[in-house]
Formats: sequence, structure tokens, C-alpha cells
Amino acid sequence: MASVSSEIVSQTEESGKPKKRGVPEGLWQRCPGCQAAIFRKQAEQLLGVCPECDYHWTITAQQRIEQVLDTGTFEEWDTNLHSLDPLEFKDKKSYADRLVAEQKRTGLREAALTGCGMIRARRVAIGVTDSAFIMGSMGSVVGEKLTRLIERATAQDLPLIIISGSGGGARMHEGILSLMQMAKTTAALAKFHEAGGLFISVLTNPTMGGVAASFASLGDLIFAEPKALVGFAGPRTIKATIRIDLPEGFQTSEFLLEHGFVDRIVPRNKLKLEIARAIDYCGK
Ligand SMILES: [Zn+2]
Repeated sequence: MASVSSEIVSQTEESGKPKKRGVPEGLWQRCPGCQAAIFRKQAEQLLGVCPECDYHWTITAQQRIEQVLDTGTFEEWDTNLHSLDPLEFKDKKSYADRLVAEQKRTGLREAALTGCGMIRARRVAIGVTDSAFIMGSMGSVVGEKLTRLIERATAQDLPLIIISGSGGGARMHEGILSLMQMAKTTAALAKFHEAGGLFISVLTNPTMGGVAASFASLGDLIFAEPKALVGFAGPRTIKATIRIDLPEGFQTSEFLLEHGFVDRIVPRNKLKLEIARAIDYCGK
């Protein structure tokens, strides 16, 4: 298994200073899950998982691809798509500047990586969204990349794997064009489904908003990482809207497994194996 350590450090901040993602720097690291001091190398060897409590650190889309695909088999698709700025949106900074800053910081061109590769020698179409890039929100490029991914999976009769890590769904900077992506990805998946395709959706921490409310919920099989936050609106918004108290932990993988929304909770070190098994089991 490839070590994730070298990849964790490969990002740069706006200042040009390297920014670390995944298990933080230092020989020892305090785990946010159990507060234990964890030997960093050990957590990295476990693919960014705490050896004591199974806490899953957030990892990058690139790391995810490395962990799930056979080494060196990833062929990226649609690398040349980039967002326009139709609203000339500006908050603290302009959307155009924000995109450039996010690209520098994450090493990604957009919040989704798509392409094809092999999982234990089975060819698959694969997409990953990364919550580090404007919350992993589904702007028009993310929607377009995923739609093309789904359409190619349909044309080439490939199993489709989408691993979601999106804290936001709609990208407000693109207004209605962002919302449209929910319908677009969903329509492409309906055609994929009609053609008899197998779609495995993997939910990771966090999978929220319009991503959770569109393609991420539409898997023939829905896997989730342990203790991932999965939902639509945040608990405070829901409480303010419907004015009732919500059950404890209602937006976790475990709760959603219990209530039938998630089919299986798959720890990170088993994900590759479980996807390969599901593909075989479904005869794909
Ligand atoms: Zn821990």
C-alpha cells in the first residue's frame, strides 16, 4: 500500500507556504476523536485513521485516488474545464480570485477529480469531491465533470464510483447555474441506471447539501466512512425551520445505516476491497 505521507504535505497556501492536510505535522499528534497522542507515522500508515479510536482524518482527493485505485492506473478526464464567473460574484474577495487561490492551496483545478482507473484489476469510472476546495461545492464545473463521468461510464459500461466529500452543495458564487447541477447529474444517473450500470456512492465526512441531495444519495449501493457527517441542512437550520428537537447524532453514518439510508459502513482500509467485492457480486 502506498504511503500517504509524502502526499499530505504537497499543498501550498496562498502565501506559497506549504499547507498540510490529513494527519497534521509533528512526530506526535493529538487525535480529535479520542484526544490520545498518536504517532503520526502510524496514523499515516493506516491511511489517515487513528489506531486508538478509528477516527478518520480528512484526506485529499488525490490521496483518495491513490488509496482506492491500483498504483499508477488513474487517467484523469476533463482536466481543462474551468469555472466562469457569470454573476461577477464578490464576497470578501472576487469569485475569480477565490478560484485561483483555491487552486493554489489544494493543487486541484476544481472541487472534483474524475477519470478512470483500476480497482484490483477491475476497470472503473471514478470521481472524488474534495471538501477543501470551496467546501467541495458543486459549481458548474463539478457538475459537468461528474455528468461527463457518468455518461462515459454509461457508454463504456463501466462500474461507477463516486466518493463524496462535500461540506456544501450549491456554490452560491454561481447562483442558479450551481443548483442546475443537481438535476443534471441526477438525469445522467437515471440514464446510467436504465442502461443497467452499477453505481457505488461512497459518503465521507462531510457529505452535505446539494451533493447529498443529488448524486450522492442515488447509489445502487451506498457506503459510508465511519462517523461521517451526512445530511442536507445543518442541525441548527433544521431546528430553526421545523422547531423540533432532533435525535442525537442523526446525521452520522451509523444513524443512517440503522435507518436504511446507508447500506454499509466501510472503514478506509477496507474500501478498495469492498468496492471490488461489490463489483464482482453485481456481476459487473
Ligand atoms: Zn483517536
